[in-house]
Amino acid sequence: MASTVQERPSFLTLTQDTITIEVGEEKKPFIVHKDLLCYWSKYFDKALNGHFKEGGKDTIAVEDFSPSIFGCFVQWLYAQPSMPPVPEGDPQMKQTGKLGGTRPSKKTSTATRYSDKKADHSDRIYITVILMLLHLYSFGDKYEAHDLRKDALSKMVDYAIDGKRVTSAVVVALGVKNLPDSSPCYKYFVDEYAFVWTPKTESADVIKDSRQTLPAGFLFDVLLASAGGEETPDDLDDPCRYHKHETSKEVDHCRMQHPQRMVVMDELVSAWCRGTSQD
Ligand SMILES: [Zn+2]
Repeated sequence: MASTVQERPSFLTLTQDTITIEVGEEKKPFIVHKDLLCYWSKYFDKALNGHFKEGGKDTIAVEDFSPSIFGCFVQWLYAQPSMPPVPEGDPQMKQTGKLGGTRPSKKTSTATRYSDKKADHSDRIYITVILMLLHLYSFGDKYEAHDLRKDALSKMVDYAIDGKRVTSAVVVALGVKNLPDSSPCYKYFVDEYAFVWTPKTESADVIKDSRQTLPAGFLFDVLLASAGGEETPDDLDDPCRYHKHETSKEVDHCRMQHPQRMVVMDELVSAWCRGTSQD
């Protein structure tokens, strides 16, 4: 969490201090409550409150992301005060087992993922949404909004399972280009291609395109993961596999919060789809 804003902000406690963020080449302005911004993003906290703060400045630039991705961040940001933290140890809320559904075995779960692929998500919308989530993940990575990064990846995992998909080569190539290979998202993509992807459900054209699109280093990492003779990991569809939790208490807390957090992400996906369908 951010270092200077200790208490999780609510609409009852927010100060009225605001920051204007000018986003993208067009410098589209977004006005955001400073407390919220600094609590959920270490980057903005350091920029606005740290030793190197630009004194008294109430405008800051974000040049490397589009206004539409920043808009998603702002929507996520303002959903946080409406999402009360789950009381620890609340038996009503506590979930047991993994997130992402149960997978009795590699063969049955993988077969389920493929059985009715493309049944309920069009390719265009699917790729559009995954790309948005990838950009949001990259935004969280760059601007140190770690919960946003976690939520974006969780939604990516959930969305792949719901849509019975493997993330497309185009999206993976973009992710590999922009993220270090130590990132959880990279690990997720490797898992997808090592343990879930199969040529059986892909057309010859898709396979040909994937061969040209997927980076060689990534393919070698897929080979390393798949050629070791390991069984498909039991927690492959569990977003917590990619969260780098340090304690079991953190895992429990994450699992308790997951349904609420995904409601927020579902809203974001819906808003994104409505927005892109108007393009
Ligand atoms: Zn988790």
